[in-house]
Order: sequence, then C-alpha cells, then structure tokens
Amino acid sequence: MSALSVGAVAETAPRERRVALSPDGVVRLLATGQQVIIEAGAGAAAWFPDTDYTDAGARLVAKRELYDQADIIVCVHPPAAADLSLLHPGQVLIGLLAPLIEPQLPRSLAEAKVTSISLDGLPRTLSAAQSMDVLSSQANVAGYKAALLAADTYGSYLPMFMTAAGTTRPAQVLVIGAGVAGLQAIGTARRLGGVVTGYDVRDAARSDVASTGASFLELDTTVSATGDGGYARALTEEERNAQQAALNAAIGRFDIVITTAQVPGKRPPELVSANALAAMQPGSVVVDLAASELGGNVAGAKPETTTITDNGVTVIGANNLPSGVPKAASTAYARNIVALLAHLVRDGTLVLDPDDTITAGVLITHDGDIVHPAVRALLEGPGR
Ligand code: NAD
Repeated sequence: MSALSVGAVAETAPRERRVALSPDGVVRLLATGQQVIIEAGAGAAAWFPDTDYTDAGARLVAKRELYDQADIIVCVHPPAAADLSLLHPGQVLIGLLAPLIEPQLPRSLAEAKVTSISLDGLPRTLSAAQSMDVLSSQANVAGYKAALLAADTYGSYLPMFMTAAGTTRPAQVLVIGAGVAGLQAIGTARRLGGVVTGYDVRDAARSDVASTGASFLELDTTVSATGDGGYARALTEEERNAQQAALNAAIGRFDIVITTAQVPGKRPPELVSANALAAMQPGSVVVDLAASELGGNVAGAKPETTTITDNGVTVIGANNLPSGVPKAASTAYARNIVALLAHLVRDGTLVLDPDDTITAGVLITHDGDIVHPAVRALLEGPGR
C-alpha cells in the first residue's frame, strides 16, 4: 500500500495559536499508514515544540518543502495569499476554509486545480460525522473559555464563600443558547461555583440544560422553535418581539450573561438589547460568542472588542476563543482531521465519492471546478 504524505503548515492568521496537527494527531495518522511532515515551528504557539513532533514520528521541513512534498496539506485557516501560490495542481487542502464567507478563495483554488475540503461544510447532525466535527470540537473549547473569561472579568466570586469575614452570595449566570458552546459554558460556570441558568428556543434544550444541573429560564412567553435537522429555526417577528420583552425583564437579575445563539445560515439573533444591558448592575459581565462583523447576540457587541456601558456593564465581543486554549483546541482539531482522513483515504488513495454525504458536504473544489452546489450558487449569483 502506498502512503500519502500529509503536511501541517504553520498558521499565518494574526493571533491564531492553533495548529492543525498535534503530536498526538501525528501518532494517529502514522498508525493509519500515512506519512507526516510538519512545517518547523508550526506547533510552537500551541506549546507543541518541534521535538514533540519528531518524537511522534513526523519529519520537520521548511514551508516551501512542505508545499512541494505534501499530497495533502492541513490547516486551520486558509493559508496567506502568498502561500496559496505555493500550492500545485492535484494537491489537497483541508481546513476551515469558510467558502461561503470568502467565495473568492474557492475560485482561486479551482483555477490552481487544487482539491479543497472545508470542514465547516460537514453535516453536523450525521452521527457518522461526529468524530470529524470541527465546529463542535472548537465550540466546546469556546464555551469553556467564555466562562473563564467571564469569571476573570467579573469583580466578585462565582461561588458562595462563607469565611470569617462574612458570606458572599454566588454569582447568577445566564447562558443563552444551549447548543455545544452554551452547554460547555454552563458546565464550566457551574464547576466554578456560579448559580447557572440556561435558555434556548429548542424544546430538546430544556432536558440538555437540566442534565448539567443548571436551571432553565422560564419566560412568560413560550417560544418553541425547533427547525430542520434539530437546529433552531429563525423566529417570526411576533415571536422575536415577545421573546425580547421577556428577556429584557429577566436579564437584569444576572451578574454574568454568556450568549451563544445561532441559527444556521442566518445572522445571529440579537437577544440582549440595549435596554437589557441598561437594567444590569454595575460590574456585570456579558460575553457574546456570536459577535461578528454582521452583528451578534448582544446590542453593540463587536468582535475582539471590550466595551463598558454607561451603567458599568462590561460587554466582551469574543472572537476566536479556541485560540486562547491552543493545546486542547489543536488536539481536538487534529483528531477531527484524522477521523476525516480515515473516512476519505482507502488503500493510500483519497476517495472522493460525490454520493457520500460527508464528502458532498465538505468537498469545495476538484479537478479545476467548484463542485460544492452552495458555493457555486453563491459565485454564480447576481452581481458576481
Ligand atoms: P449550536 O448550533 O450548537 O448552538 C446554538 C444554539 O442557539 C442552539 O441550541 C439554538 O437552538 C440556539 N438558538 C438559536 N436561536 C435562538 C434564540 N432566538 N434564542 C435562544 N437560543 C437560540 O452552535 P455552537 O456550535 O454552540 O456555536 C454557538 C455560537 O458560538 C455560534 O455563533 C458560533 O459561531 C460561536 N462560536 C464562537 C467562537 C468564538 O471564539 N467566539 C468559537 C466557536 C463558536
């Protein structure tokens, strides 16, 4: 059986500390019969020194050599523009390529005859895909880090303390959106000693929240919005207004609010309004995981920006939280990559079967064409 050469590059995006293959991932890939090469220094920011990779059995190379020699290149973010020109026809690029956000990238990759595979297209509800689900593994890390960030920013204790100097009350924590990131934020805030309440619009989330030991936020209005594939659907305007009014009335009693609400393919819903922020106590903290240039779950939250409202509420627009836990995030990411390759590589050959649901979800460009229907539709849409 011939072996494919899998190469992990050093990330070039600003402030990114993750790496697509950890030393543990190298061991796992070698066990499946592949060869592994690593760009020297690629794991340094995630606390994986080069020697950990060579001990695991990988070969260290310079960037240019890696682009020359690897059959498959794995990354977290797309390589910088200058590095993309190092890719050659027939080579495979696997990472979080965000083709629906950056559709010019697939165009260039197709022109360069590079086969590209983007993990953000993985069908998340398919149980066979769970071990490859990078969005979930990274959301899990993000939820954990969001709770730590909130606790670190909050000016008091999370747990109740009874000391000779008196008793402090525990912090009241609300987590809005009880998906992967939300449930991890709930679990982490509970382990830190906060009194935690979760909220979501999907019926199934009620039992998920209960299973963590947190309570569920009961609003005067009942919105039940389970959509396709177990995800939430977008709310109607009437439902949104009713939810907003009920949330406005509830949020003021919480010391920490962590928001993680999203509906696939839609702008994140704004759930913490300016009125709700105004009702919070000075010293309260709000962390918005959904903050993006398109808006987030919290009024005025901007990615990578911390603001303090006039009434003393710190609003953190969180961005790339997994990079702040780089070792754990990279280890999980690498395991997802190894699982995907175990699915796609048979007898030393990458098998791209268009009838396979996983392949159809992740394959973006192949043989000079953009093959992903949604990406193609976006590029062929009006004004393109
Ligand atoms: P998920 O789909 O598993 O969970 C989202 C939850 O939001 C779902 O349970 C859904 O029912 C709920 N929701 C949708 N609309 C709602 C509404 N109107 N009210 C209440 N709940 C609602 O998603 P996830 O993987 O947990 O990711 C959550 C968010 O975190 C996303 O915006 C994602 O992009 C973001 N994220 C951020 C970082 C970061 O570093 N900031 C990292 C990973 C993920």
